[in-house]
Amino acid sequence: MSFVVAIDGPAGSGKTTTARAVAERLGYRYLDTGALYRALALAVIRSGIKDPHGEEALAVCRAARVRPVWEGRAMRVLLDGEDVSEEIRSPEVTRLVSPLSARPEVRALLVDLQREAGREGGIVVEGRDIGSVVFPEAGLKVFLVADPEERARRRWKEIEASGVRANLEEIRRAIDERDRRDSGRSVAPLVRAKDAVEIDTTRLTIDEQVDRIVRLAREAGA
Ligand code: C5P
Repeated sequence: MSFVVAIDGPAGSGKTTTARAVAERLGYRYLDTGALYRALALAVIRSGIKDPHGEEALAVCRAARVRPVWEGRAMRVLLDGEDVSEEIRSPEVTRLVSPLSARPEVRALLVDLQREAGREGGIVVEGRDIGSVVFPEAGLKVFLVADPEERARRRWKEIEASGVRANLEEIRRAIDERDRRDSGRSVAPLVRAKDAVEIDTTRLTIDEQVDRIVRLAREAGA
């Protein structure tokens, strides 16, 4: 069970749904690394600090104890012992997490934690730099992409389904902005690892995506 499946890609490319389903099918655990960065962003917000670039934000991140835990195969994230798995999905956290996670010092705080969680393998890890930085030796690396229009539409559907009104154009702009920051940062940018398989999910169903990745993982020895 030493196999690691790395799934990277931009916001709205279908990573989370796909990674969860792939883990289920392989009988693996699932690690959502974005949730760890989001938990640090929540700690900063709770401290009342507005500027993600200053020393104070960094001190809060250093003091915060972020930990992934598993209930069966489902992952939850703890911040100082409190389960914040739902709270980290708020728009405030989504806005702050990208500039915060662009800081090398912040990334350094979470890399060991991710490697430790994947040390024994048998895990699907989802993020932006998993195949390129965190698990460069992963048995399978997948890079998911999809047209920006389609990604915005998926996010819009998700939000509306939760009973909240959403504006498609605003979502599109927010996704563009986050992609630009995540791809443009100097440390561990969102980038396809050379040996990653790129899958365009624009016209694929979730089942098709999952089937394809499970097949690739099995061929690679998962
Ligand atoms: O995947 P999710 O949208 O929850 O990630 C939130 C943010 O966390 C991303 O926009 C990115 O800025 C950051 N992130 C990262 N590296 C990862 C996972 C997430 O920088 N491995």
